Amino acid sequence: MNKKGNVLVVDDEVSICEGCKKILLKEGLYVDTAKDGLEAKEKIEREKFDLVLVDLKLPQLSGEDLLHWLHSSNPDIVPVVITGYPSFNSAVTAVKEGAYDYIPKPFTSGELRKVVRRGLERKWLIQEMHRLREEQEKNLKLISQERTKLKSVINSMGDGVLVVNKSGKVVLYNCAARQILNLQDNCLDKPMKEVVKNDTLTEMLTSLLIKQKKMAFSQEIHIDNRSYLANASPVVDDGEIIGAVASLKDITKLRRFSDTKSAFLNMVSHEIRSPLGIIEGYLDLILKGIAKDEAQTKDIIRRARVRAQTLRQLVDDLLNLARMESEKVKRELVPVDLPKIILEVVEFYRDKAEEKNIKVNVSLEKVPAILMDRNDIILLFTNLLENAIKYNVKGGSINIYIKEEGPDLCLRVEDTGIGIPPESRERIFDEFYRVKNEKTRRIPGTGLGLSIVRRIVKTYQGKIKVDSRKKGGSIFSVYLPLRNFGVEV
Ligand code: ADP
Repeated sequence: MNKKGNVLVVDDEVSICEGCKKILLKEGLYVDTAKDGLEAKEKIEREKFDLVLVDLKLPQLSGEDLLHWLHSSNPDIVPVVITGYPSFNSAVTAVKEGAYDYIPKPFTSGELRKVVRRGLERKWLIQEMHRLREEQEKNLKLISQERTKLKSVINSMGDGVLVVNKSGKVVLYNCAARQILNLQDNCLDKPMKEVVKNDTLTEMLTSLLIKQKKMAFSQEIHIDNRSYLANASPVVDDGEIIGAVASLKDITKLRRFSDTKSAFLNMVSHEIRSPLGIIEGYLDLILKGIAKDEAQTKDIIRRARVRAQTLRQLVDDLLNLARMESEKVKRELVPVDLPKIILEVVEFYRDKAEEKNIKVNVSLEKVPAILMDRNDIILLFTNLLENAIKYNVKGGSINIYIKEEGPDLCLRVEDTGIGIPPESRERIFDEFYRVKNEKTRRIPGTGLGLSIVRRIVKTYQGKIKVDSRKKGGSIFSVYLPLRNFGVEV
């Protein structure tokens, strides 16, 4: 194999073959000869040639047939025709047969060198072109593979990713971003302000593009009642900002946890510290002998006891909440006779209701037994009834109903108390949330009762609803699916 090129000379005239060989060998080429078309074919099949010089008039296999064959089976070999008569016709025939060039007989060594050099140059050019094309195809394939890989990586991310170009048009987004931002299917190439319905996020990205800020920054944003940590970073190429990318991390749970933590700390400082301070104060009064007589001493002790009871209630609520939170909570599911339990709890609270002169009416329909843990249903109803007494007015009333409503068993507690402002109705089920106004200021509580109720209801796949009575007061309705007879909780 010769680096400069391999040439095959095909001519039935031995002098031509030998002459050409001599001249081309001096050029540093590898040269072989064949005296007819068949021999040429055999040699081409065996060895690798870059250029073939073919006389058109050959015995056995004609020059035209050889050119034909070369054209179809070895298109990389450059064919050059040696024509017997220097005529226009023979040149046309040669090119028609697929020859790249032709050289008329008789020719000088210079003419031969020139035509072979040109032919080989063409061959190297074609070879280089093929190489470049192959490389390009390989690169394109690599790019498309990389793109597919990148796309599937971005799409499998839990965080939302949205990329915009310099002019603020959407160029990429993943599944999570589509879900979070409620993006339509065809938002690619559209201005983000048209498709992203969150002003804070679009302003974050716009500020990077307009102010050419090269620093990433984060901000908390809220979409559909959920909290996200939005991070906006510029896409920089060659020192120039060519776009911006936003990532959205769902921090709803963290946010709620942090809110609950603040509410808990707030509650501890108020609800534990202040009753303890008051109890200390009462005990000081007794120790210093300030109470005048036994009646006054008893009064002070009674007051301290009320505060101690509030504290115990708080601890009980916290323990119940912790019990609900715990995954390991063991529930003993038994068919419970709800009306019976309701009557027992009402009886237990009768004195408390009477203290405020509150009338408790119970209307119980016959309902099927439901599969529940007894403690859960007692805790649920106790919290509702305690609130109905606590937030009721003196001389008010409470109506309790149990009935079947469609697929559910409905437990309803109505009171004639102070009612709940509409803006607080969603939030009263949150941990530690308490309505703060003139009417509730003196009523002790932990803000945990209803969150415990909500958890129990959720455990049994039920629902809880709060309404206000037209004449003042609240209505709490709990719906427990009757299909829970036998459900796993
Ligand atoms: P707590 O009663 O210990 O404060 P809850 O979680 O039971 O905590 O209730 C949360 C808040 O909802 C209460 O602080 C109160 O403002 C309001 N609330 C609950 N039940 C009633 C009711 N029956 N009438 C009026 N307000 C109520």
